[in-house]
Amino acid sequence: MTLTVLMNAGPWLSVPPPGYGGIENVVATLVPELRRLGVRVVLASVESSTLPVDEKIAVFPDGQFHALQRPYNQVCGVSQAHLSGVVRALHARDDIDLVHDHVEAVGLATLAAMGPDAPPALHTLHWDLAKHPELYGNLDGGDRVRVNGVSASQLARAPEALRAHAVGHVHLSTPLAVDADRHASVAKGDHVVILGRINPGKGQDLGARLAHEAGFPLVLAGPVGPYHRPEDLAAAGDEARQNPDVRFFHDHVAPYVDGDRVRWVGTVAGRDRDDLVASARALLFPLRWEEPGGTAVVESLALGTPVVATARGCLPELVEHGRTGLLTGVEEELGDLVLAAGGLEPDECRREAARRFTPARMAQRYLELYERVRQGAAQPLQPA
Ligand code: UDP
Repeated sequence: MTLTVLMNAGPWLSVPPPGYGGIENVVATLVPELRRLGVRVVLASVESSTLPVDEKIAVFPDGQFHALQRPYNQVCGVSQAHLSGVVRALHARDDIDLVHDHVEAVGLATLAAMGPDAPPALHTLHWDLAKHPELYGNLDGGDRVRVNGVSASQLARAPEALRAHAVGHVHLSTPLAVDADRHASVAKGDHVVILGRINPGKGQDLGARLAHEAGFPLVLAGPVGPYHRPEDLAAAGDEARQNPDVRFFHDHVAPYVDGDRVRWVGTVAGRDRDDLVASARALLFPLRWEEPGGTAVVESLALGTPVVATARGCLPELVEHGRTGLLTGVEEELGDLVLAAGGLEPDECRREAARRFTPARMAQRYLELYERVRQGAAQPLQPA
């Protein structure tokens, strides 16, 4: 019998996302693989989503991400309205075997509150689980609502009530990993890249200081708050400083950005991003937070670029020290490790990605979890 899954991607961005959009990208990667495996997918998203699915549910015509800049009392109805649409659909029809939900906090709370009338649900935790302590610390979804993490280390730090609902973790994937082991080598340059939002947790200030001290060229790729291009940030003026990531950039990163040793190039997308990463000596992750999933980490491996990182969050699960990257618990060692990363083999990185981080592998793993959830599984699966 065909399995029908309601995939709840939420109201914030269309699927696939127009630019930056981590969760929507995961959904866009997962859905085609699930359909290839025979799953019927009903996508709850916004009307403008173009991802091919079997059916679509939408409350909003297009992504509401822009509304997130508004005060809470003006924005708090957005995800509620979207979830109301999902609940209406679940009450009106009986063909949904399982809900796979990706909507932070509200998705989980609503599905748990729906009680036994609703189908079984799997809620994927894409974020830092230190957030929402009251919700996670008191969660009761019975045996109908289950959660999964995007790494074992992320789940291990979750509040106990949340962990009691977990059926395991599923590592992130990237389409770049498909046949990555068969791709030709790319000529390596001298440069090192930090790929990600400019943010204290991602540690661009530390990376930039070490670039000057250890003497390697560093490219910072990623947005500063809502600003994707250096000229847009420059034009934004002082008001932009209300955004904490803009303040972090101006106060702690910009002093090292000299346009030579350290460059900030804004958001780099598509082919340009892939070329920048594939030709890099290493991707650097000078993390100051427990990275929950690390899409940029698996992308780097798929493009044949070793990862140099602080050994925090999911990094030790994704990167094997000495083979696909170099990890350390000591921040100040990162500069030396960057210089040593040239000794690692790009082919090893690509082979690892082709083996572990393809969309097909991720979809297979989610199918296993769907089965566990439908059985009302009480025990978490063994780690993948
Ligand atoms: N990204 C990009 N261009 C940039 C910076 C980041 O395309 O200039 C992408 C990156 O390739 C990855 C995503 O943004 O796909 C970041 O996801 P990750 O899980 O690494 O970090 P998050 O922002 O979700 O914490």
